[in-house]
Amino acid sequence: MQPITVLPVEGLPLIRIGDDLEKMITDTIPLQDGDILVIASTVLSKARGYTRDLATIQPGAQARRLAALNGEEPRFVQAVLDATEDLILEEPFILSALACGHIGVRAGVDHSNIEDGKVILLPSDPMGAAREVQERIQALTGRTIRVIITDTCGRSFRRGQTGHAIGWSGMTAIRDFRGDTDLFGHELEITEEAVIDEIAGFANFVMGESNNGVPVVVVRGCETWSGHDNLYFNQHEDLTRRALTNQAAVQRME
Ligand code: GDP
Ligand code: MN
Ligand code: MN
Repeated sequence: MQPITVLPVEGLPLIRIGDDLEKMITDTIPLQDGDILVIASTVLSKARGYTRDLATIQPGAQARRLAALNGEEPRFVQAVLDATEDLILEEPFILSALACGHIGVRAGVDHSNIEDGKVILLPSDPMGAAREVQERIQALTGRTIRVIITDTCGRSFRRGQTGHAIGWSGMTAIRDFRGDTDLFGHELEITEEAVIDEIAGFANFVMGESNNGVPVVVVRGCETWSGHDNLYFNQHEDLTRRALTNQAAVQRME
């Protein structure tokens, strides 16, 4: 197997609305065919203008109620509610399903790595955004690359946040091992590997969380795989979501 190289893209400035992120990336690092470009959603959102000024937000009754419940700022909570398609948990933190299928704490709305008084939203169509980046880089460099857009997320059952893929292009989310045989000839029946989250996780490690200034990572030498894009459970399959929704309903009745 060929070695896999993970390259931090260093030297990018603070990203602002309207910045040509793809050009800034290709001016900073020469890309090769097959590279996986991993981009923190934070900078994609800042470049594309998925940010909000808290001063322009008027919190409604629900935002004020949830803000009091969770000890948060009502305008911030309104931004979270505006980004939420389905509210799964109200407390001790808001857990939201977004239109793109991602489920995230506070709808992935972020205070950090932006000026005071502003928040960063997740891109509204992260799959479309990943495709756009891929096509733009093809146009700029002639290179056919793959793209993953990430966010740092908590997960169930374990402490600690990891990078998750929220948008991708040029590869399938899942590498499907079903039908393969293991070392002893047993047929694998349920193994589907969420490869893009594994890559997002390591890229997130290279990015860091605070003031590293590394919002983009190139993963070079990753083999290709085949599989499918059904990363998100549908509502009936998702046992955790069902349990949380039922629990919240019981609490409301008490
Ligand atoms: P998230 O995981 O998408 O929410 O993004 P983070 O806020 O954790 O940032 C990921 C990485 O990108 C960290 O190394 C940050 O320091 C860096 N970063 C965030 N914003 C910018 C920016 O505008 N310019 C640069 N150069 N780095 C940034
Ligand atoms: Mn984030
Ligand atoms: Mn992060």
